[in-house]
Amino acid sequence: MRGKYTCKYLHNSGEICSKGSMHPEGCRLHRNCKERKPCEECGKPTASVSGKCPLHIRGYYVAEYYRKLREKVNEYGEQLSDNDGFSRQ
Ligand SMILES: [Zn+2]
Ligand SMILES: [Zn+2]
Repeated sequence: MRGKYTCKYLHNSGEICSKGSMHPEGCRLHRNCKERKPCEECGKPTASVSGKCPLHIRGYYVAEYYRKLREKVNEYGEQLSDNDGFSRQ
């Protein structure tokens, strides 16, 4: 049976289901599934709103964490050197 809509569900293989459906949400199987997009980094289908798969979302957060940590260390290091200059005077 063919419908007027095409299921846009993205399989893990990267293929789109493309079955005909009477519902814009997708075919009978995928109607209740979240819409998935290929990951920006690796192309793996993901339902995440950020457009990245769990693996690369984690990578993003880890990178952010270390960036913030480095900023903190830099601030602290500057304070230390300021104090050093002060105590020497
Ligand atoms: Zn489908
Ligand atoms: Zn990915």
